[in-house]
Amino acid sequence: MDTATHFTPILEQVLEEVRPLTLHGKVASYIPELSHIDRSKLGMALYLPDGGIYTAGDAHERFSIQSISKVFTLVMAYRTLGNALWERVGREPSGNPFNSLVQLETDKGVPRNPFINAGALVVTDILCSQYVNPHLAILEFIRQVSGVPDINFNTRVARSEAQHGFRNAAMANFIKSFGNLKAPVDNVLQAYFHQCSIEMSCAELVRAAQLLVHYGTAPGVSEALLTPSEVRRVASIMLTCGTYDAAGDFAFRIGLPAKSGVGGGILAVVPGRMALCVWSPALDVHGNSLAGAKALELFAGRTGFSIF
Ligand code: GLN
Repeated sequence: MDTATHFTPILEQVLEEVRPLTLHGKVASYIPELSHIDRSKLGMALYLPDGGIYTAGDAHERFSIQSISKVFTLVMAYRTLGNALWERVGREPSGNPFNSLVQLETDKGVPRNPFINAGALVVTDILCSQYVNPHLAILEFIRQVSGVPDINFNTRVARSEAQHGFRNAAMANFIKSFGNLKAPVDNVLQAYFHQCSIEMSCAELVRAAQLLVHYGTAPGVSEALLTPSEVRRVASIMLTCGTYDAAGDFAFRIGLPAKSGVGGGILAVVPGRMALCVWSPALDVHGNSLAGAKALELFAGRTGFSIF
């Protein structure tokens, strides 16, 4: 049996099995523009190192990538600062919700990791120091690594989040008070809300994740974006921090480095082996896609794709 006929039916079957779960959980409503999404959407895409992409369900429909963007901004900032990055942001799971402020005071404005909102704001601040238009640089980077030139922001989502982003604004101001944001708070927030509003499909996200699958190289990008050891480190932070206070449960059930977003997407990557993305908008209490997590669990169990 060739690979395509082998993987496509597994993806389709997994989606059918998890479909009843799309009725449970909650579509994110704290960003009002996201609350209109049809909760029955369900898609999945797989990328293998030989370049093969296998898809099922709504894998070609774009959605709000939200916090999945934090993987790409981390790669960009890591490229810029190298190991000096870790003086600005930690790499320890927070055990707290993605939008929590509680540890920032004891940690003196150095967020626990780059995937909680506080850490992502510091990462975006690093890009604000490097680029005149950081939000455009982030978009351009994602277009380049995915090879899809028409990926774009959803400006309504970015505006909606800016209008209701009181917590992110509080966090950015708090970090600034410790001196760990260099750019004006408003610039950092604008860039951050824009990166979160980027829309991509599962198929496009696994393409963009090629750079991790191929240990730092992407087709059409001439130089290596990260070293293989930096890629392993990004993947390790995805495993330990990518799904917030559910990261332990994800490692236990799924065994894949993964990054979720409140748009309902989850991107999982194993360097050298594969990238897998699922989208189902309704979320569990931790802000991770409910049916999406189950789909990853079933797929990993059936194919043996796991880092363990
Ligand atoms: N834009 C969202 C926020 O900052 C991203 C959160 C997420 O996807 N977990 O709240």
